[in-house]
Amino acid sequence: MPGRRERPEVIELDEYVPNYQRRCIACEQRPVVDGLKNGKQIPLAGLCGPCTFGTSDAIYPDEWNRLG
Ligand SMILES: [Zn+2]
Repeated sequence: MPGRRERPEVIELDEYVPNYQRRCIACEQRPVVDGLKNGKQIPLAGLCGPCTFGTSDAIYPDEWNRLG
């Protein structure tokens, strides 16, 4: 019998939120991208918007949830 809906270990985030306390580990910009899941802020890779999404539009946190 095939297993149903085997999920990889990927957290499904509710949305992306900015973290102004940290700097991007690649380019030192702020804020970095955190995730929000069930009202809890979850640190991701420690990268800013443009480094996370690969587009300069992502400099604005408002864009993250549209891109992500
Ligand atoms: Zn960056």
